Amino acid sequence: MSVTSYFRSAFAIPRDKPALARAQIDIFVRQLPIMYGIIFVSMAAISVTYFQRAPVYLTIYVPALLAIVMIWRIYLFRRVRENADIESIYRRLRSIVIMAALMGTVFSTWSIALYPYGDQYGHGHLIFFMGITSFGCIASMMHFRPAAITLFLFTLVPACFLLQATGQPVVMAVGLNMLLVGGFIIVAISSFYDKFVQSIDDQQALIEKQAETQKLSDINSKLASLDTLTDLPNRRGFFAELEGKLSQKNAMPCGLVVGIMDLDGFKPINDIYGHPMGDKLLIQVAQRLRDRLPQSVYVARLGGDEFGLIFSPGALSDNIMADAERICAELRVPFNMDGFVAQITASLGMSEHRCLNETPETLFEQADYALYHAKEFQNGGAVLFSDAHAETIRQVNGIEKRLRDADLEEELFLAFQPIVDLQSNRVCGLEVLARWDNPVLGSIPPSTFIRAAERAGMINQLTEILFRKALTAAQTWPDDIVMSFNLSPYDIGAPECMLKLIGLFEKSGLSAKRLVFEVTETAVMLDFGRACDTLQNLKTMGAAIALDDFGTGYSSLSHVRQLPLDRLKVDRSFVNGLENDTAARSVMQTILDLCRNLDIECIVEGVETERQLEILTSMGCRYIQGYLFSRPMDADLVVKYLEADRSKLVDVVTL
Ligand code: C2E
Ligand code: CA
Repeated sequence: MSVTSYFRSAFAIPRDKPALARAQIDIFVRQLPIMYGIIFVSMAAISVTYFQRAPVYLTIYVPALLAIVMIWRIYLFRRVRENADIESIYRRLRSIVIMAALMGTVFSTWSIALYPYGDQYGHGHLIFFMGITSFGCIASMMHFRPAAITLFLFTLVPACFLLQATGQPVVMAVGLNMLLVGGFIIVAISSFYDKFVQSIDDQQALIEKQAETQKLSDINSKLASLDTLTDLPNRRGFFAELEGKLSQKNAMPCGLVVGIMDLDGFKPINDIYGHPMGDKLLIQVAQRLRDRLPQSVYVARLGGDEFGLIFSPGALSDNIMADAERICAELRVPFNMDGFVAQITASLGMSEHRCLNETPETLFEQADYALYHAKEFQNGGAVLFSDAHAETIRQVNGIEKRLRDADLEEELFLAFQPIVDLQSNRVCGLEVLARWDNPVLGSIPPSTFIRAAERAGMINQLTEILFRKALTAAQTWPDDIVMSFNLSPYDIGAPECMLKLIGLFEKSGLSAKRLVFEVTETAVMLDFGRACDTLQNLKTMGAAIALDDFGTGYSSLSHVRQLPLDRLKVDRSFVNGLENDTAARSVMQTILDLCRNLDIECIVEGVETERQLEILTSMGCRYIQGYLFSRPMDADLVVKYLEADRSKLVDVVTL
């Protein structure tokens, strides 16, 4: 390496290393007061030594002026901000080198100017000052080689020349000594400086690598929060957003609304037209939600046909229900699919943050409960979680707890409600209805405790106990009386439970012709394929299948046709309007005709008045169940009731 290129590289302030420049300024700002402290203390000492020997301007004014300059520079560099732009940093680095040259010149000149006024001790002090101050300042600049070399050139070199000029061998030797030591310090600093530059480079490379890794991990977590089918955020993204919104400082989440939307009628489209068509429909639903809802509403796909919505406070009007109904109405507008038009509806469960320490989980569970209500009791539409719902949950939780602790063999019992054949005018069967009397809670309606058992995962256990009791009771009835037993959706979905029921039935010795299993539409629609298989197995065993609560669920005629049904039980809500509503009569007539065409028996439930019976008889209805004939009765009353029913038959025959 030539001398010029060595000097060029020794003085270089590399433009491609901004991190190095920032580190150098940072260290310099911290070192500057120390360096100026060394200079100031030494200058003060020299001024004292030379006071009254040298002119006042040399002992007072120059040091005072330099002190002011030094304080001013400290102040200037303190103002360099961390995020200062890189050009100003480079400017400051250049200014440090220039100032090193200037200050070095001033100090050297000052020392040279003072030298003639000193005696031998004074000279010794001055030489000591020049050496110690130069070494101290050069060492302080070890992180910035150009400044260190500049200081060397402008302090130690002139000092050496000054001392050579004295002509005194010892002083000349001291000068040479200082110069050589200074040179070695510069060599040592050079090697330290190279390592320092390398360490900053390494540090920078590490920071860049970390930033890259962070970027990749950001992309990853974004992808992990995205639903690839619809491009909406997924369940994970939804919860992250909700948690973020609730934990935001200074932002009161009161009024934030969480919505869970479930599509009604999506499953049949998926089943009938296949999954690719189902996927297309989901994409269109996602698109419509995005297009029709304001940007401020966060829309996510939670999975399957379930979507999550987050409305920031103020995103909905005061009339939340009206807004929610409008959202559901948007989805009722038919979707144009390839070759057909898909018509679906949506149920929306919502929960409002009321600043009662709600967590994301509670809001979600409340919205989920409201959704369940919308589906179960409202035939779709929107439901906002209310205090009444909270009270019901509290009760159900209490019931669930009692159910777990209960002696179910002891506390569960059965009631039986006759099913009457209008053709023979006699009882042809009995529906088994569960009853629970708890020592603490008293008598709980089956609609409540059956749901609690389903939620607590205990329904299979209950069904087994009830079925065993029902089989025992049925053995006391005449051979031609059929027993109708209700199954929960969770029974149909549990093969092991179904096997146990079949085992119990085979052990009872009862004829399979006397057994009917009642399943609800909702149970069948939960998993149509599996329900079909289970029902087929029961049929193979010889039992009959009845579709319960017909008309309240979402099954279509095509499903009724596909299921291995023997009976259809028309929900009592269809009976209510028979007396005054001609439309209700037409609907009933249609259902009766449907059953006739499909060759399945039709049982109308909930007949309470003579007039209803009259109308149904005129329509050709054959099987009736309802309070008009009998309310559900205890087991010990059943046998007597059936005997009375038979004697009525005997009366009719003898007449
Ligand atoms: P469900 O299967 O629809 O049973 C018929 C319900 O209608 C019974 O209510 C019965 O008492 C009532 N009912 C019958 N005739 C009339 C009438 O003329 N008017 C009125 N207003 N109601 C009438 P219950 O016993 O309270 O049972 C309610 C529901 O609980 C049942 O509805 C069924 O879904 C469920 N359930 C009852 N027992 C069992 C069971 O052993 N297993 C399962 N999984 N569910 C059961
Ligand atoms: Ca039933």
